[in-house]
Amino acid sequence: MSTTRARPMRRILERVLLPGTVEEIELVGRRMRRIRITGTSLRDLAWTPGQHTRLQVGDLLAPQIWLRGFRDALRTYSIWDYDHRGSLDLCVLDHEGAGPGATWSRRVRHGDQVAFTRPEGRFVTRSGAPYHLFVGDETASVAFGAMLRALSGTCRVYGVVTAGEPGERLPVPRSNELTWLYRGEDPSDDTDLLVRAVRSLTLPDGPGVAYLAGQARTCQAVRGHLTRDRDWPRDAVLTKPFWAPGRRGLD
Ligand SMILES: Cc1cc2nc3c(=O)[nH]c(=O)nc-3n(C[C@H](O)[C@H](O)[C@H](O)COP(=O)(O)OP(=O)(O)OC[C@H]3O[C@@H](n4cnc5c(N)ncnc54)[C@H](O)[C@@H]3O)c2cc1C
Repeated sequence: MSTTRARPMRRILERVLLPGTVEEIELVGRRMRRIRITGTSLRDLAWTPGQHTRLQVGDLLAPQIWLRGFRDALRTYSIWDYDHRGSLDLCVLDHEGAGPGATWSRRVRHGDQVAFTRPEGRFVTRSGAPYHLFVGDETASVAFGAMLRALSGTCRVYGVVTAGEPGERLPVPRSNELTWLYRGEDPSDDTDLLVRAVRSLTLPDGPGVAYLAGQARTCQAVRGHLTRDRDWPRDAVLTKPFWAPGRRGLD
């Protein structure tokens, strides 16, 4: 893009995206990096646990990015933790697909400048639920961790979460109240694993509120089980597909 056209575009982007600096990078689990971003623009943002941000992982001013409709320049990440004094933590999985998001997480360094949107999204815990059911994979466990941290200790919690192996588990609160399953050498398609596990969960009589996230097909299959086999109303099941094999940058 020419400099004259790039300048106004840069100003628009600066209005939409907040600037921050990478302050910490920590490997939490074998393939997950917790990345702390700090900055004055992060002070006193409105954030509800479960919400996400869209992070710039490529050059938004590059002509090829515009031709592809930003697909490779932004990726969506749940906010693992937020401090209103000006920092937020993301946890990014370094998966085999090695798309722009995973590549960014591998290359990012302490002190790098980053840009991202304000927290957004409706994948948040519903107050007054008789109980809460969390189902998903390790990417989903980022949002679940934030949601569980915010729930009162008196709320009843159930859940099934998958990871490649025990060393890939995120340290989510109330972890011992969830069932953890490991794919081992299996490829990451864990739909059957999760559906079978949810099917065999002993849940209280009557529906609670379910939060399903992670692979798109799994969300759909677990939702089908809850609404069809357990007779849950559709609005008691919140789904947020995070990724799908062969698709790029779901949001
Ligand atoms: C609301 C929301 C919240 C999200 N929160 C998180 C989060 O907290 N942490 C996180 O890591 N991701 C999260 N994601 C997913 C994230 O946005 C990206 O889709 C993911 O990082 C993959 O991006 P990529 O550029 O590396 O690969 P893409 O270019 O998007 O995908 C390339 C290929 O990689 C494969 N692939 C993608 N993701 C996975 C995976 N998890 N496991 C195995 N193969 C995969 C697929 O075959 C895909 O076709 C979230 C998505 C949404 C919509």
